Amino acid sequence: MLIQANRREFLGALGAFSLFPLMTETPELVLFNANIYTVNDQAPQAQAIAVSGGKILAIGSNADVMNLASAGSQKIDLGMKTVLPGFIDAHSHPAMAGVMHLRMVDCDLRSIAAIEQALRERAAKTPAGEWVLGFKYDDTKTSDGRPLTIGDLDAALPDHPVQIEHRGGHTIYCNSLAFQKAGITDKTPEPPGGKIDHDPATGRLSGRAAESARALFDKVIPNRLTRDDHREGVKLISKMLAKTGITSAHEAQGTPTDLLAYQDAHQAGELLYRAYCFINYRFFDSMIAAGVRTGLGDDWVRVGAMKLVCDGSISERTARLSQPYEGKPGDYGILVMTEEELYSYGRKAHMAGWQIGTHANGDVGIDTTLRVYERLQKESPRRDPRFRLEHCTVINDDLVRRIKALGAIPTPFSTYVYYHGEKMRYYGADRLNHMFALRSFLDAGIRATQASDYPPGEFLPMMALQSEVTRTDIKGNVWGAKQKVTVEEAIRVGTLHGAYASYEENLKGSLEVGKVADLVVLGRDPMKEAASTLVTIPVERTMAGGRWTYES
Ligand SMILES: [Zn+2]
Repeated sequence: MLIQANRREFLGALGAFSLFPLMTETPELVLFNANIYTVNDQAPQAQAIAVSGGKILAIGSNADVMNLASAGSQKIDLGMKTVLPGFIDAHSHPAMAGVMHLRMVDCDLRSIAAIEQALRERAAKTPAGEWVLGFKYDDTKTSDGRPLTIGDLDAALPDHPVQIEHRGGHTIYCNSLAFQKAGITDKTPEPPGGKIDHDPATGRLSGRAAESARALFDKVIPNRLTRDDHREGVKLISKMLAKTGITSAHEAQGTPTDLLAYQDAHQAGELLYRAYCFINYRFFDSMIAAGVRTGLGDDWVRVGAMKLVCDGSISERTARLSQPYEGKPGDYGILVMTEEELYSYGRKAHMAGWQIGTHANGDVGIDTTLRVYERLQKESPRRDPRFRLEHCTVINDDLVRRIKALGAIPTPFSTYVYYHGEKMRYYGADRLNHMFALRSFLDAGIRATQASDYPPGEFLPMMALQSEVTRTDIKGNVWGAKQKVTVEEAIRVGTLHGAYASYEENLKGSLEVGKVADLVVLGRDPMKEAASTLVTIPVERTMAGGRWTYES
């Protein structure tokens, strides 16, 4: 094949220079007999890959690549299984999710009884009086048709304070003991920017609290996480991501603790995906003072963009919209930072050579963020700033035009339509045709990425493909059919575009000579699969840097 021929000419031309190290390079590993989609337009398909030093030494036909193998090369016959580049999750919170999985009860269960059972099991192993913590609870996904109450939690755990975090991350559900520890009674006034819900009939605490009210609990829940726990968290989530075919993730709310955890896990040989670690604006000054900027690090742990937050959330319905939420006249969502605040933090980052990633969900949030980016670029033009719009959910034609003009990168939720279908009705059929708008972005030539936002969203790349290709939820409802893309497009979005979003398109995102050997072996071919069963395609193996990070 073309790439192999070029490679031979290349090696041939180097023949005269006997000291050139490539001359003696033979692959440690050859994968052959595979159905490889490379995401490289010059040579979109191949049968075999040779790997050396964690990178792709050759890719092409079985015959050509096998020719390079020596007696010492390991050779693996993939039996015509499909190979894709490893998937890149361009907005996720894996380091945080890892420690949550270590420490908390996973409440992603389908009934209140099942959640109570899981909590009781944890309580049985926890001394009385100590906190039991849960996460990933979703009131719209239990069969009970009502949210958890303080009564449910008191009955399940009479002797332990308990706090369950909602999947979206903005609300919590607690028992009486927890409220007592936090010093909250039926009469406690709501803190500014927070909510403490009461039963409208009795005026008693209902169990739910939101936003800044969480700080009252944070003060009394001991944080016993050690440096080692954070490393363990990365180790645990590494295995979870690798199992689904993810080889890179952009840590979207990075803290110095996350950055340290990644370095520790990498040093211990436990990091199984490449992390592009954002730094939240709150931690920014010391980074700038140290001369740190986007790109510092290596192929495994790299400093990413500075993170800013413009507006609210899609799953919890606080994104700032130009038109109100369905059935809620007057509710337009919220802006979290003012345009001037965004500009002043953004300017610091822009001037110091940082990429900027701003959380902007609603069309008003996106408009505000784009205005800030346009102003920065006008006042202090930078070559290739790759401004990012984290989520960039609700768009219109004018926003798309401005995103294209700026060369900005949207990172829309990839699995929401499929997984969070029950929340889509709050946005209405018409608006859904302008949400998670991959079709619009691709048609405009914008390099949008795949992004899970885990824990709020599911991170399975095969689910992302199905969600983006079918725009259909688990129950078969279609949401925003105009934004459907092809399987081939969805794969490119989940691989090469993710690499571009972190300035690493020359390192990864496609299977080409010289790029890292990051790939996934699938049990079936997504190009030949019915769109409605893409999510069931098994991931058989995942490789990052030439090493198997998962084998089924
Ligand atoms: Zn996020």
